[in-house]
Amino acid sequence: MVELEKTLQYAAERSPYYRQLFGGRVPAFTNVPTTDKKILSERTADFLCVPSEKLAEIVTTSGTTGAPIIYRLTAADLDRLAENERQSFECAGLSAADTVVLAVTLDRGFIAGLAYWLGLQKLGCRVVRVGPTPALITALVEQLHPTAIVAVPSTLRLLTGLTVAKAICIGEPVRNRDFSLNAAGQAIATGWNAQVFSTYGVTELASSLCECPAGNGGHLHEDLLHLEILDDAGQRVPDGEVGEVVATPFGVEAMPLLRYRTGDCAAVFREPCACGRTSLRLGPIVGRKNQKLKFRGTTLFPSALQGVLETTAGVDTFVIIARRQDELSDAVEVVVHGSVADPALRDALQGRAKCAPQIRHAPREEIEALQMPANARKRRYFVDLR
Ligand SMILES: [Zn+2]
Repeated sequence: MVELEKTLQYAAERSPYYRQLFGGRVPAFTNVPTTDKKILSERTADFLCVPSEKLAEIVTTSGTTGAPIIYRLTAADLDRLAENERQSFECAGLSAADTVVLAVTLDRGFIAGLAYWLGLQKLGCRVVRVGPTPALITALVEQLHPTAIVAVPSTLRLLTGLTVAKAICIGEPVRNRDFSLNAAGQAIATGWNAQVFSTYGVTELASSLCECPAGNGGHLHEDLLHLEILDDAGQRVPDGEVGEVVATPFGVEAMPLLRYRTGDCAAVFREPCACGRTSLRLGPIVGRKNQKLKFRGTTLFPSALQGVLETTAGVDTFVIIARRQDELSDAVEVVVHGSVADPALRDALQGRAKCAPQIRHAPREEIEALQMPANARKRRYFVDLR
């Protein structure tokens, strides 16, 4: 792994954080301590390897969990970002023949929209920077007949009567753990008459992985990123088993990170893909590490329950609530509104999510208040009171 070694050496020489951490002795890569959002936000300046004159772009994370992180890129980092995204879109089968609507936020300090734009330009596509405004998306899709759209699933689900060949979905899951489309993925595939692709990116890694048309996980760009899946103790978990996504981007100039814990949980798969690529594939993100529930001796993610609730007849709306019970188990309550009978819902949850939480029926207003508390930016289906 020449790239991995180069990345390690560069960080050891140039990053004040890693120079201090290593104390003059560069460890083997597998012995490098992991880093995470907390360390990065507390010591951002110590991760910077270049003088400020060399910086070309400064972005920030959305800050849904904890303080936003300021991430800096040089011109070379922007080239790398463009190449990463070019490979991601190429993986989804896009080419210079495509007209692509970018229905995501292009400003507000975010990196994603910029990365997509750079990658699509590098691929030679025509790009329409529409942003996430539904009325404008509708008008321009009707007028320009794009072949692809890049958007957040909840934005796509708001719109009806539009079609596009490929819907590239970011930020929210569109697949279940077994790669089948979840409720959102199905709604988009049907509503837009589109092939659905999931793409996963992390600001601090300046990297993304996108699915190919086989839809069996995001293909790793092996020249740009190293991926590991680790358990809570920092040990590698076997392929196919869910753990935390830990990644090391290659060739980053301004803020290289080694073994960065993303906080996202997923599994990797190594068998060759139906598309012919042999690169590692990252399965659907099943949840954030801190959302993992302990339930009577097993662990599960709220997304597993959500997947069942979204597809059970008679469930109009719902919210999942977790409370701390004791060391071994969390108390999990599913609050639903709809005509579904408790035994039917219990069977569905037990059968498909292997979990029998408490079930409580409540008025729609009560559930919606839990989903959208004052100052919430986004509807939530999981409330963590632990
Ligand atoms: Zn593939």
